[in-house]
Amino acid sequence: MIVGVPKEIKNNESRVGMTPAGVLELVKNGHTVYVQSGAGEGSGFFNSDYQQAGAVIVDTIGQVYAMSEMIVKVKEPIEEEYPLIQKGQIVFTYFHFASSERLTKAMIASKSICIAYETVEDEDGSLPLLTPMSEVAGRMAIQQGAKYLEKPVKGRGVLLGGVPGVAPGKVLVLGAGVVGIQAAKMAAGLGAHVTIMDVNMKRLRYVNDVMPNHVVTEFSNEYNIRRHIKTHDLIIGGVLLKGSKAPNLITRDMLKEMRPGTVIVDVAVDQGGCVETTKATTHEDPIYIIDDVVHYAVANMPGAVPHTSTMALTNVTLPYVLKLANLGWEKACSLDPGLQKGLNILDGEVVYKEIIEAFTWEA
Ligand code: NAD
Repeated sequence: MIVGVPKEIKNNESRVGMTPAGVLELVKNGHTVYVQSGAGEGSGFFNSDYQQAGAVIVDTIGQVYAMSEMIVKVKEPIEEEYPLIQKGQIVFTYFHFASSERLTKAMIASKSICIAYETVEDEDGSLPLLTPMSEVAGRMAIQQGAKYLEKPVKGRGVLLGGVPGVAPGKVLVLGAGVVGIQAAKMAAGLGAHVTIMDVNMKRLRYVNDVMPNHVVTEFSNEYNIRRHIKTHDLIIGGVLLKGSKAPNLITRDMLKEMRPGTVIVDVAVDQGGCVETTKATTHEDPIYIIDDVVHYAVANMPGAVPHTSTMALTNVTLPYVLKLANLGWEKACSLDPGLQKGLNILDGEVVYKEIIEAFTWEA
């Protein structure tokens, strides 16, 4: 198969859909890979790295789309990319169709085969192509939180690890899923005192088994949250109710009970956030302050560490890319029901129930 890797043109997106390691595997399997010149630069991979792995470098995004049977990228296509997508072409990327009727209609019109990373499933129903980005965001949440706890950026002036003779900072993690566990692990590694909360006892039992003693589990309810926000320095929002808006676990009135300079990193911002006062921010302008509480709510946290994020993402996408290239999409999907779940739009028709239900479909 001929596989194309375009440069991402969405604002501030430096990740790339395939690393030189991926190119090497595809070429070994007899495929041709076209990589747009400079596509990997933002992630630290250069044309020469791709060439050494066996890729052919092409100059323009138009050439990549025109010559490839399958496009492997990261972000959903933006308007400039719509006309480039060919009939019958496989496009394997994050789409998040339910949040954009315009994109959905454009992909229907293109008659391409849209396979969305975010709906590919494992045997246990988990979402293997979303997990690595939650891992990145969970770990980054502590890095960002530690930074904004510093006084010059209006934080409490607390060093999370403390020093000999001074108690460490306290981190409250809401949600013991992928984001929450990675955040707790990083905070514990820095020496902070960590409280992690969930409503799922299985998750809390797991955390209790694997984490050191200075990570304490507590059941998530309003009473416990109100009690802890008064004494914790950094609060991480990592809750998810699949397919719904995140619940507001921290309401506006609760901010007054926090100490000035408390930092909230609401990772769940992409689902509306689990803090009532959360509104999405960007890497250029990541924080705002309400009632002396610092809010960090960047919706694409992994975008700030593209080298790590690209490798984390492509480690998990590559096996599917290989299957699609080796077998063709029809056979690959029929042999792997989890990959089949990734099929969102097929030859002009939406084939994923939640996307059909997301819009009114008026002309
Ligand atoms: P996950 O499903 O692995 O974990 C969510 C956890 O929240 C689950 O354990 C669930 O039981 C728990 N939960 C549900 N209701 C709760 C409540 N009332 N109190 C406490 N816990 C509760 O999800 P995840 O992969 O960790 O993702 C968490 C959120 O982070 C999602 O909204 C995801 O989209 C988002 N995310 C954001 C970024 C970013 O850049 N901002 C990056 C990756 C993921």
